[in-house]
Amino acid sequence: MQANELRDMAKYTYDFFVIGAGSGGTRAARIAAAHGARVGVAEDLYLGGTCVNVGCVPKKLLVYASHYAEDFEDAAGFGWSVGEREHNWAKLIANKDKEIARLNGIYRRLIEGAGAKIYDARAVLEDANTISVGGERVTAQTILISTGGWPSVPDVPGKEHIVTSNEAFHLETLPDRIVVVGGGYIAVEFAGIFHGLGANVTQLYRGPMFLRGFDDDARAFVAEEMLKKGIDLRLITKVEAIAKQKDGSLLLDIAGGGTIETDLVMYATGRRPNTSGIGIEKAGVALNERGAVIVDKDWRTNIDNIYAIGDVTDRIQLTPVAIAEGHALADRLYGEPGRGVSYEFVASTVFSQPSLGTVGLTEAEARARYGEVDIYKSDFKSMKHTLSGRDERTLMKLVVERSSDRVVGIHVVGPDAGEIIQGFAVALKAGATKAVFDATIGIHPTAAEEFVTMREPEPEPVLKAAE
Ligand code: NDP
Repeated sequence: MQANELRDMAKYTYDFFVIGAGSGGTRAARIAAAHGARVGVAEDLYLGGTCVNVGCVPKKLLVYASHYAEDFEDAAGFGWSVGEREHNWAKLIANKDKEIARLNGIYRRLIEGAGAKIYDARAVLEDANTISVGGERVTAQTILISTGGWPSVPDVPGKEHIVTSNEAFHLETLPDRIVVVGGGYIAVEFAGIFHGLGANVTQLYRGPMFLRGFDDDARAFVAEEMLKKGIDLRLITKVEAIAKQKDGSLLLDIAGGGTIETDLVMYATGRRPNTSGIGIEKAGVALNERGAVIVDKDWRTNIDNIYAIGDVTDRIQLTPVAIAEGHALADRLYGEPGRGVSYEFVASTVFSQPSLGTVGLTEAEARARYGEVDIYKSDFKSMKHTLSGRDERTLMKLVVERSSDRVVGIHVVGPDAGEIIQGFAVALKAGATKAVFDATIGIHPTAAEEFVTMREPEPEPVLKAAE
């Protein structure tokens, strides 16, 4: 380190100040502190951020809880008699809250154990190096904005009657009738959770098919399976207004006519970056039209010493991406700069029921990028359901670039899609070809073995003259 850099560091209270202790901020703070930086972290809501408190973790616990409904039914075909079933929502929420409190404690110990100081308070930037936090004024040579996102709800009349995923995790009771508005990850996941736990669920999506951005076959397959399970999925349906009725129920006016009466309306219509109330303007940090912090490829904002990572940058809104960014940034600033983040072949899974796992390109994206592609598809009833009698099917799909034989996309709809897709994501990152898939011996009997036993590509789609 140069003498002038040492002098600069001594001028500031902290070398590195992290605003927001979610997944990405926590990782950046811990790694920077482990490299010897003097680190301060401010969090005014909950340690661990969205993922730990009102996102991935409690969501997955609720998905497990809801799936038991089918598991009990399926057991009968295997000779089990399962007696009366009753679900206690309050108990589930209490147990979930206990687990989250434990995780909050682990986050605190991890950050403090690395030598960083936590401020349980909102941090507000006063200028590019000064932060007011918990009644104190501190300075930092480098600042990281990792404040995440927040549910965004359109301005529909009666908006005050709705909940978002934030509140859904803390409902006192599970209502009989629930309407979920939206067609992204959160809407589809919660529709499955509420349905599994016994509510009558109606899901409303404004377009012709939900899960926009995912492979078309996979989207349609999830929709069909959800409909089969009894979720009332209504496409091309927009809510015009929501009114509270005398008996406490809610009445939704649907565009084009018709109403829906329900007990709870949950909006899952996207998330906006959390950039208000933290002094962004005073520090001069530039935002885009959606209010997200604009960063370059090294996560640096337009202000030299201020960086941003994770959902607040509104790029890939996934916890593991924010963690990778936080780690790479801290290494680059205070340790060995080698670690980068590759945004290619980022796998993800929608924990719908059945779940949808994906990595790489959709068929449509691959056709647009490469022209000639081969599609391998398998749609089957899993072995478990031969005895359970459940009418649930699984879809597996490979997208192969024809000229190089490289597998460029994998999509699976079925149980444990996330567990399956994670390993295949490694293969895709390694550049595996279809020939490598073919040379891989399957594990029998599994669903995933389909991916290494698909022999015949689908016939080429026939284009009509008009197309
Ligand atoms: P998404 O952006 O995934 O989906 C938003 C949905 O709301 C879309 O279907 C969109 O429709 C619809 N929508 C947007 N605006 C309106 C409107 N004004 N009226 C009606 N519908 C509207 O957001 P989510 O809230 O589901 O999740 C946020 C992000 O969090 C995800 O994108 C994902 O990155 C992350 N996440 C990841 C999870 C995982 O990895 N399992 C789980 C949960 C969240 P349209 O498609 O027509 O625009």
